[in-house]
Amino acid sequence: MGIVVESVSKSFSGTFALKDVSVSIEDGQFVTFLGPLGAGKTTLLRIMCGIDRPDSGRIYYDGQDVTDVAVQKRPVAMVYQQFVNYPSMTLYENIASPLRVSRRKYSKGEIEKRVHESADLLGIRQILGHYPEEVSGGQKQRAAIARALTKDAKFIFLDEPLANLDYKLREELRGELKEILRRKGGVVVYATPEAVDALSMASHVGYIENGQLWQYGALKHVYRYPQFKEVGRYFSYPTMNILPGTVEKYAKGAALVLSDDLRVDVSRIADQLDQEVYQVGIRAYNISTSKEHAEMVPFQAEVELSEELGSDTELHVRHNGQTLVVLLQEFARHEIGQKVTLYLDSTRLFLFHPHTNEL
Ligand code: ADP
Ligand code: MG
Repeated sequence: MGIVVESVSKSFSGTFALKDVSVSIEDGQFVTFLGPLGAGKTTLLRIMCGIDRPDSGRIYYDGQDVTDVAVQKRPVAMVYQQFVNYPSMTLYENIASPLRVSRRKYSKGEIEKRVHESADLLGIRQILGHYPEEVSGGQKQRAAIARALTKDAKFIFLDEPLANLDYKLREELRGELKEILRRKGGVVVYATPEAVDALSMASHVGYIENGQLWQYGALKHVYRYPQFKEVGRYFSYPTMNILPGTVEKYAKGAALVLSDDLRVDVSRIADQLDQEVYQVGIRAYNISTSKEHAEMVPFQAEVELSEELGSDTELHVRHNGQTLVVLLQEFARHEIGQKVTLYLDSTRLFLFHPHTNEL
């Protein structure tokens, strides 16, 4: 039970917007498709919910091939980035509209009950009598989400639903959406360029770039085992540093040479190293100013920038001609130009194949 996307491709004027995308989503999962602008997220959602047809490939809902089934006949609801509200209707009428046009006839009482239920969930019961222009952007988007929920669609698609909201509203709705959507069951498919949306809400994530699904899996798994540096970067706050690392094998093991001053023993994975050079990823918070355990490897660096962010400090340091970002979980003042000894957690390195861009 759930949604299966099988080898879906779609081109616009000869250019691939989606290329051979396959993914299998089970009931109860909250899936976030992440990727930069133009990656193909919207195209994938439109095809999954039936607004658009793929050039090739199939879509299955609960084991049934629905590729040729019109969107109106599918158990779906979609929330868009732009607030879609009918300006001449009150929020009540906006939220009720999918029920009124549904093939299933809803009684007046049933419509009222459903509209009130979803308005309560989104906290907009008191303003149902207002017109869209009379309420704030956040309230409009809440109404758009409530509208998607009234129909009891089994599959809900949200395309950057928080994109047009300010920071504070985004934070607030993000927390609420997770609860509301998880409680509904079914499947939630959510597209966003914001990793934080995925990290705070999703059970599963897919990373899309250039129309291809680079990696898909449980959030924890993708976070822990990014296969590509782009994925690692996306799933790191504030970033993942990427440095070239040369493998030096010797009789009893191997070392990864990141610079003259920075060598990491990688003997425990020596037999898995089939490249001479890797792109080595290290998350900003896996570098520290103190040696927290025996696998922390020291190196020298010069402070280029120091930013105190409440209880954290973000440092940009220069090492071997490259800038590294370091997130210290402490409030610490550093002078620009100051020499510092830092410690890299060698148990938290990611080795990326150097040619992964040519997927
Ligand atoms: P995203 O939602 O990740 O930003 P889209 O799915 O909107 O990406 O777009 C993927 C690619 O397909 C882009 O290069 C975009 O320009 C192109 N594209 C999307 N929709 C159309 C369309 N209707 N006509 C022409 N090109 C399109
Ligand atoms: Mg889009």
